[in-house]
Amino acid sequence: GTKGKEKEQNRPSTTFKDVAGLDEVIEELQDIVDYMNNTQKYRAMGAKFPKGIIFYGPPGTGKTLLASAMAGETRAAFYPVSGSEFVEKYVGVGASRIRALFQKARKTAPSVIFIDEIDAVGSRRNVDNNSEKDQTLNQLLVEMDGFNSNDEAVIVIGATNRLDLLDEALLRPGRFDRHIFIGHPNLRAREEILRVHTKNKPLEPDVDLKELAMKTFGMTGAHLASIANEAAILAVRRGKKRIGCDEFNEAIERVIAGIEKKNAYVI
Ligand code: ATP
Repeated sequence: GTKGKEKEQNRPSTTFKDVAGLDEVIEELQDIVDYMNNTQKYRAMGAKFPKGIIFYGPPGTGKTLLASAMAGETRAAFYPVSGSEFVEKYVGVGASRIRALFQKARKTAPSVIFIDEIDAVGSRRNVDNNSEKDQTLNQLLVEMDGFNSNDEAVIVIGATNRLDLLDEALLRPGRFDRHIFIGHPNLRAREEILRVHTKNKPLEPDVDLKELAMKTFGMTGAHLASIANEAAILAVRRGKKRIGCDEFNEAIERVIAGIEKKNAYVI
């Protein structure tokens, strides 16, 4: 999510090292990072670059984290927003917020704009093309077309759980034309994510991250981060010097119970 965005605002210190288990995705982003870091070089060669990327896939898998790492890797200003912030009752308000956001990002370029839940503004337009949401989406299209990626190093990253909901106009070449799927982490990825989130935590020597990865099938990075944190809190409460297997097992059970409770509400 966009939680903690105040802290992240402007130039984040997050890098690709903080993002675990997404090596292939990071590889796919390297050319854009290189472009952002060497805009002049590319400009002199007359090369154009993508302006927009869509990260799609289940929640909690690191989309926001990855976008902030993109900004960190390129020393870019970071503007995390949620699509729902632009959906307003009064016609024109969302559109003018979009305009202001892009204006600010251009001024501080290089910049990374991150629009979480982009489907809130970017789902298919109505036929009349007149609602507040449609005006907001139209303004987003105007902004995407209006800036030349050769003039300003501004990259717009949209995130959604459902790529199929987005208006085709948004996905056209020159707009959000690169689509990257970010799915659930596999066994190795879960181990790597656990490693990142226990890096600064004292662990008992018998804590085996691979084993924990096996016990957390189907969980996302957000779940794993929360397990590592819960386990640390339990260890403090128990007056321990290090986090042990018991704390991890209990933390896993708590997270599983949380997932089951959430699913129960959905049904
Ligand atoms: P949402 O769709 O709900 O916005 P998201 O895909 O943007 O979810 P993040 O907000 O990036 O997910 O993930 C939440 C937190 O989970 C991150 O701040 C990080 O602590 C942890 N996390 C998620 N994925 C990873 C990962 N691949 N490596 C390390 N940490 C991760």
